[in-house]
Amino acid sequence: MRVTVIGCSGSFPGPDSPASSYLIEADGYAMLLDLGNGALGTLQRFHPLYEIDSVCISHLHADHCLDLCGYWVARTYRPSGPPPRIPVHGPEGTAVRLAKAYDLDPDPGMTGTFDFETLRRGPYDIGPFRVTTALMPHPVEAYAFRIEHGGKALAYSGDTGASETLVDLARGADLFLCEASFLDGPGLPSELHLTAREAGEHAAAAGVGRLVLTHLVPWNDRDVSLKEAKASHYDGDVELAYVGAEYDL
Ligand SMILES: [Zn+2]
Ligand SMILES: [Zn+2]
Repeated sequence: MRVTVIGCSGSFPGPDSPASSYLIEADGYAMLLDLGNGALGTLQRFHPLYEIDSVCISHLHADHCLDLCGYWVARTYRPSGPPPRIPVHGPEGTAVRLAKAYDLDPDPGMTGTFDFETLRRGPYDIGPFRVTTALMPHPVEAYAFRIEHGGKALAYSGDTGASETLVDLARGADLFLCEASFLDGPGLPSELHLTAREAGEHAAAAGVGRLVLTHLVPWNDRDVSLKEAKASHYDGDVELAYVGAEYDL
């Protein structure tokens, strides 16, 4: 399985990255995990626009789903005719949320182009991947993912506050893409996001092979995030996500 970072900017696009999006490929199958604002443009640098087989959406905040609007246009109005519908797996209400975002009548909304399916807890198969999801503490219904293929596992936190459930989901994963929205400091809200240090603590508790910090908010200093994660109890490799980073599992 190959994981390519398309967007790793937290909460809004930054100068060097769109908001959240990751391309997961195996056996000739390509799945997008989130498609936040700005990601559709950058995706085209790394993968043919129409050769996406499915999309999974962690939650319905704009920085994780909004570029499905542009992707709906690209597929629906392709001059040579629309390609076949593809599944979009998201939380309950994804179809209506996206229809509203594009100001479409929810019936039919985008359903001629996307086959909306409500995310299940799993494990279940999406293409060649074994997918398990878990509900995370966040102001809206938000899921973390475990994606397995060929004996390897990727864990992705989505957006989350501190969570034992995330530790369980990520246990033993070869690669852990974990959000690190906050820097250490007083008065941080709970059940919203993780600090980089907390990302390291979750990685240590889960015993993952490699930690990649993502959802990096442009107003933070990335080097400070990396330093704080390295100061946690996690003693494996810690890296910062960047656009175009590839991980072969
Ligand atoms: Zn976010
Ligand atoms: Zn969010």
